[in-house]
Amino acid sequence: MRSDGREPGDLRTITFENEIAPNATGSTLIKWGHTQVICSVCIEPGVPRWMRDQSVGGGWLTAEYSMLPYSTLNRKTRDISRGKVDGRSQEIQRLIGRALRAAVDLKKVGEKTIWIDCDVLQADGGTRTAAITGGFVALSLAFRNLINKGVLLENPIIEKIAAVSVGVVNGTPVLDLPYVEDVDAEVDLNVVMTGSGDFVEIQGTGEKNTFPQTQLIKMLDLVAPGINNLIKAQDEALMR
Ligand code: UDP
Repeated sequence: MRSDGREPGDLRTITFENEIAPNATGSTLIKWGHTQVICSVCIEPGVPRWMRDQSVGGGWLTAEYSMLPYSTLNRKTRDISRGKVDGRSQEIQRLIGRALRAAVDLKKVGEKTIWIDCDVLQADGGTRTAAITGGFVALSLAFRNLINKGVLLENPIIEKIAAVSVGVVNGTPVLDLPYVEDVDAEVDLNVVMTGSGDFVEIQGTGEKNTFPQTQLIKMLDLVAPGINNLIKAQDEALMR
């Protein structure tokens, strides 16, 4: 039995509160179990210098991730007060950027940079997967808003993207780990997938032990139906 009574393949309850940041081009507050992340999209003219230097056409998409000081049980000092960027945040924001670049045909964006800002309001495990899953909704809203304004002529989205965690707790593969399970997990895996069922990225670690291929396959078997349910939840949030 899991800490919150779920079956191994069940997701926590997930909701989206759209357009909570009026000055962003698109935004959503994803509430996934007790994890809450504000995902906002802003679009600026111009692309990174390396793109211009290498004559890479089209736009760019990048992400920033941070945990608000009061998102954790013990106050988390802001990076600006520590004077350096948290290594974990840096790793997570690069993952979010890679994941959401797979959603977009950047050639259709023009010479612009899309910023995905993910700020964790409450952390209870799975903040990176919430940032990606919510980031996709914010991105879709942003493009829709730009199309409605006549700024964009066609939608640059080419794939739906969602992400979920899966792990092994007390020898059993379980989907979508809250913090209490995450700290006890023998294996911790974060999986990003497309709506058409392909993998974008798999981040997996044997936290306490190494793990065999058979266990990896059992974990991945839980992921695909979970991603399908997440894509349905995103679709519903975008229909409103
Ligand atoms: N966590 C925390 N403080 C930190 C980092 C993590 O309280 O500085 C907690 C938080 O609940 C987070 C969980 O540990 O969701 C798991 O962290 P992990 O690095 O595995 O990332 P996540 O599962 O959030 O993507």
